[in-house]
Amino acid sequence: MAIADRAAALRASGVDVLSFGLGEPDFDTPEPIRAAAKAALDKGATRYTKTRGIAPLRQAIAADSLRRRGVAHDLEEIVVSAGAKQSLFDLALALLDEGDEAIIPAPYWVSYPEQVALVGAVPKFVQTTEAEGFRLRPEVLDAAIGPKTKALILCTPSNPTGAAYDEASLHALASVLRRRGIWVIVDEIYGQLVYDGFVQRSLLTVAPDLKNRLIIVDGASKTYAMTGWRIGWMLGPRAVADACETLQSQATSNATTVAQYAAIAALEGPRDAFDAMLAEFSVRRRLMVDGLNALSGIRCRMPEGAFYAFPSVEGLLGKKTAEGKTLESDLDVTAYLLDAARVAVVPGAAFGAPGYVRLSYAASQKQILEGVSRIGAAIAALR
Ligand code: PLP
Repeated sequence: MAIADRAAALRASGVDVLSFGLGEPDFDTPEPIRAAAKAALDKGATRYTKTRGIAPLRQAIAADSLRRRGVAHDLEEIVVSAGAKQSLFDLALALLDEGDEAIIPAPYWVSYPEQVALVGAVPKFVQTTEAEGFRLRPEVLDAAIGPKTKALILCTPSNPTGAAYDEASLHALASVLRRRGIWVIVDEIYGQLVYDGFVQRSLLTVAPDLKNRLIIVDGASKTYAMTGWRIGWMLGPRAVADACETLQSQATSNATTVAQYAAIAALEGPRDAFDAMLAEFSVRRRLMVDGLNALSGIRCRMPEGAFYAFPSVEGLLGKKTAEGKTLESDLDVTAYLLDAARVAVVPGAAFGAPGYVRLSYAASQKQILEGVSRIGAAIAALR
């Protein structure tokens, strides 16, 4: 937040700051989706709907999930929400009691621990390492499960690392989950944003027998460049879906009606805009990661998915700026890059990963090249 505030203040004073902090596609929502929303508005999609969402959208979600995950959900096992974030919060409220533990592999998306804490439960962090591809190992999961553990929250591909679980690692986790019988919430919001032929299987596909303990969270935001429409959903056991619906009925009621119609068009419409966005992200990923790896003191793993690079900046720690300040942490590096390179990134400490920073490549190729070059110049000025 401090970095974001400073970046905003710099920008307000006329300094051109390049921001790689954003977690949203920089593309407009594709035209057929916008057209469907306009048509729906004109047909009167302006009233309340069923709290869990209109049936045709839940049908489209069920069909999409069956096609991609190979496991069927009926319409009562699906709840549409105002974004994956709301579904995740519904699930925290529905599944966790005060004092329960939820296992969260670090690096993690910032909202998981906050949501768990908000419902009075306890986030139990387990560290994953770059050497392990930022993937939770089965024996680490097994050792982390205690008498108070109710759930595991898994994200693949991950925000912030872009790392994704391959089929073998999902099988390995499933064998622990099968034995230990805890809930598993899988955040697949970036599930279709994968590159270089990486195949993102769902844990549900790999272990359909876990279906009565497994909840998928997904949404329209990242796949269809629809962050502002606020449409997400959960697919899970009927009782859990009912609980999510009950919560939403007292908190927000249905997700915005016209946005639900837009989401049907997103799920059922042409894929060309998505394919073009994916191809562009794929080029940017290489530009960003190769560019960063060419800089001394920076090491960046090639992420399988999402739109984030998550380089280690440990090689910069201990160096001195021209003003004589020693860079002691990723926070110092982030502040230095903002001051010296006018580039905004997010410190890894925010995601439970000190020593790293996150850069989103939801930015143009020109911005990426310029940003990497500015970072390079700032690093060259260190002693
Ligand atoms: N899950 C992860 C890992 C995310 O990065 C985000 C958005 O940044 C969300 C969920 C929330 O997405 P939505 O816009 O559907 O609420």
